[in-house]
Amino acid sequence: MVSVPEVTLKRRGGDADILDMATIRATCPACGDVKLRSRDLMVRVCVETDQGTYQFTCPRCGEPVAREATPRILSLLVSAGVPTEVWHEPAELLEPHLGPPITVDDVLDFHLLLEQEGWFDRLAESVGDTGA
Ligand SMILES: [Zn+2]
Repeated sequence: MVSVPEVTLKRRGGDADILDMATIRATCPACGDVKLRSRDLMVRVCVETDQGTYQFTCPRCGEPVAREATPRILSLLVSAGVPTEVWHEPAELLEPHLGPPITVDDVLDFHLLLEQEGWFDRLAESVGDTGA
């Protein structure tokens, strides 16, 4: 078994301590410190921003926990055997956003529109989209 030196990540603003290759201590907001095995966590890294998080389901309360982490912490978690998943920002973020923000009135109007027959055609007409 490869020995990984104990690292106290709390002092650096993180909240996961790597105890050895198989046991990781992380913090649940409700329960405090919990011990996890590497396969109980997941490291997620965004391809576009290089920002990453680790996440797990708390073994005590069952709530999902996700925390942002520095590349160093994520690297330590991966080296301890935590599986990694990469993700892409949604393409909608790259779309141009024109016009004022949606208001509560807009949402209510949309709700009323959805209750009418032919709502889709009316919606397409209102935004000038002919579907072509
Ligand atoms: Zn918990």
